[in-house]
Amino acid sequence: KQHLLEIDDLKVNFKTYGGEVQAVRGVSFHVDKGETVAIVGESGCGKSVTAQAIMGLIPNPPGRIIGGKVVFEGKEITHLPKKELLGIRGTQIGMVFQDPMTALNPTMKVGTQIVEGFVRSQKVTREEARKRAIEMLGLVGIPDPEKRIDQYPHQFSGGMRQRVVIAIALACQPKLVIADEPTTALDVTIQAQILDLLKRLQEEQELSVVIITHDLGVVAEVAHRMVVMYAGMVVETGTVEDVFANPRHPYTWGLMRSLPRLDEGEKQRLIPIEGSPPDLFQPPKGCPFAARCDFAMEVCDQQMPVTSEFAEGHQAACWLHDPRAPRIEELVAAGR
Ligand code: SF4
Ligand code: MG
Repeated sequence: KQHLLEIDDLKVNFKTYGGEVQAVRGVSFHVDKGETVAIVGESGCGKSVTAQAIMGLIPNPPGRIIGGKVVFEGKEITHLPKKELLGIRGTQIGMVFQDPMTALNPTMKVGTQIVEGFVRSQKVTREEARKRAIEMLGLVGIPDPEKRIDQYPHQFSGGMRQRVVIAIALACQPKLVIADEPTTALDVTIQAQILDLLKRLQEEQELSVVIITHDLGVVAEVAHRMVVMYAGMVVETGTVEDVFANPRHPYTWGLMRSLPRLDEGEKQRLIPIEGSPPDLFQPPKGCPFAARCDFAMEVCDQQMPVTSEFAEGHQAACWLHDPRAPRIEELVAAGR
């Protein structure tokens, strides 16, 4: 079966004065038509770099895709020339960024910016274009679109600006939308509204969405499947149901513990994961999480963990699930 998007063993390095950072170290996952896949992890885990690689936006230099491939609709786009990539970006793949202001041109009416999107992808008259732009603003829930279309970005609130960015991303009717922390800059109420909007559009337009986030709450809200990244690698992946009900990687356990629990009311207990991620100039040869893991065994420092599968598509890379490892119960009994 052909996936809409397939990332296979992607590796991205960045040259710096201190040496070469291995930002993405062999990431694989796929996205099917009409599904939302969340990539979740702490800042610096390589999730944004992965998104940039999909869109051909790795700044080179200093960045470089040193291995693996990105396949979109059966076509490899890993190293496409800029011109060809531009044809895919913004027509087949739409983008929504964290800060709407960076995506918008402050000197241009929002209507003009939406129109540019589909004029690039389809032949339409000015009249048609304007009509469609008004429809798009309505679709993303901007009240009074006939009037708003002639306004400038600064005349919109943060949440309304993000709606405009989503309208621009959708104007060319892309098959895939990549949203990098699309609600992080917004306050909680607006955040929920934007997530609702993304979810509604995904369903109505049968879009595929890749959403990048550090927030498991966002994952639970909008995603069908999730990819948990740590230190440039995928440590766990599966349906949101499977991973939430039965997380298998100690890092995922840590993320879950740090999730605010609504049922605990006002005094939410957030337990952050202690320690910090490894240096990606010289990544450890064994498990990247070993230095922070309560369950680390000798083998964890020596060898990269193997990947085990628990349910269809639910996988984690951790030695605890290897039959040769001590049982979790034994580790717990031993005081870990
Ligand atoms: Fe912890 Fe070892 Fe599993 Fe890594 S492989 S997460 S160190 S138990
Ligand atoms: Mg980021």
